[in-house]
Amino acid sequence: MDKNEELMSWNEIVKTITKHNAPLYDLHTHSINKYTDKFLNGKVPPSRQVIEAAEKLGLAFVAISDHSYEIVNYPDLPEPTIINKTLNSFIPYIEYLENVKRSLKIPLLKGVEFYIDKPEHLSKLSKEAINGLDYIILETRTKLNFTEVRKALGNATLILAHPTIESFFNENTKTEEMAKWVDSLKENKIHFELNRSNLKEYLARPEFYKRFFDIAKAKDIKFTIGSDYHQIPGDYIKFYTNVCKVIKLYELNNFYKPNKV
Ligand SMILES: [Zn+2]
Repeated sequence: MDKNEELMSWNEIVKTITKHNAPLYDLHTHSINKYTDKFLNGKVPPSRQVIEAAEKLGLAFVAISDHSYEIVNYPDLPEPTIINKTLNSFIPYIEYLENVKRSLKIPLLKGVEFYIDKPEHLSKLSKEAINGLDYIILETRTKLNFTEVRKALGNATLILAHPTIESFFNENTKTEEMAKWVDSLKENKIHFELNRSNLKEYLARPEFYKRFFDIAKAKDIKFTIGSDYHQIPGDYIKFYTNVCKVIKLYELNNFYKPNKV
């Protein structure tokens, strides 16, 4: 087996996570699949397998952050329109999360994942629709204007999902440019997710990512941990092994901790 593929024991994982002052949590999981579940309209309940796997593993807490386009009652509309029609759909979604929460021993955070390319997409979002949530994950393929996003979402806890910094910056990017982007994250209190899909890349190219993580650390950016498992749990040991390798490699110690769970 390749040395990079070696798995850590769960004990080692817990030790490493604790040493780096990180919570043992998963802030990015999905329970709804609009093609199979249709929990608002049909009889098939969303899957709880990922949450139950996290509970069995003994995480301190876990979260559900389903996609807005899977929550809403208008699955055929394009996302920007959907975000504007969320109120009627968010109330049953939040009730569903409350029900799941009551049935678990592990504490559950209630989240949602918004796909946004332009902050205008959020302009008509009702604040009431997101009031009952603990946090919002932002998925984007563009260099979002974080100030505009923050304005639209009030004081919600915000996390940038699977940030693809390698698509915004390259080896020739000036450090000031990178620092400016990180400043904007910091000013708008947006946390940076260590997502399963990015970890291998972070481990493979430390010469590129070290500069970014050094800036983020110097500016006190908070990190979160998210598996992004969709309905079916994957290998949590493998995921956390890679999380530990990344936090050790870049010496990350500053993690977002929710005050209430
Ligand atoms: Zn996701």
